[in-house]
Amino acid sequence: MTIRPILIHPDPRLKKVCDPITGVPVEIGKLAEDMLETMYDAPGIGLAAPQIGVTQRLLVMDCVKDPELAQRPMALINPVITWSSEDRSTYEEGCLSIPEQYAEVERPAVVRVQWTALDGTRQEEEFSGLWATCVQHEIDHLDGKLFIDYLKPLKRQMITRKMEKLKRERARA
Ligand SMILES: [Zn+2]
Repeated sequence: MTIRPILIHPDPRLKKVCDPITGVPVEIGKLAEDMLETMYDAPGIGLAAPQIGVTQRLLVMDCVKDPELAQRPMALINPVITWSSEDRSTYEEGCLSIPEQYAEVERPAVVRVQWTALDGTRQEEEFSGLWATCVQHEIDHLDGKLFIDYLKPLKRQMITRKMEKLKRERARA
């Protein structure tokens, strides 16, 4: 497994609508392993393929934050939200592509998601709490959407400028 570099916003690859994955090629299993390794290392609770520059519809997540509990690594190929609750919940979100910036985002509190697992089987599950927020945030990535797109333009521009500065500093280092 390899830890891959995570793209930092702004980057055109983070704005792309990602391509569906056909079947479950061996490379996808390998890519999912790399993504999980990269996510745990960051550390983060979710990572979408475009964040490491692969514009395909794959995301990984594990929202078990309590170190006492067993990890639950998940890899979702071509995930689709099939139902969203009218109930909404607000979480302070962050993103590995937008380091150290957090903002409240309101989303449906519960969602049902269908996807293909790494063994090729179709899966469906209802997510709530942090899992619901995370899976919606990551599916947004597959459509070229970031959590800052939900914020007021001024706040979004402020964060984008901070990220541009961070990238210049990292390029110089
Ligand atoms: Zn993100």
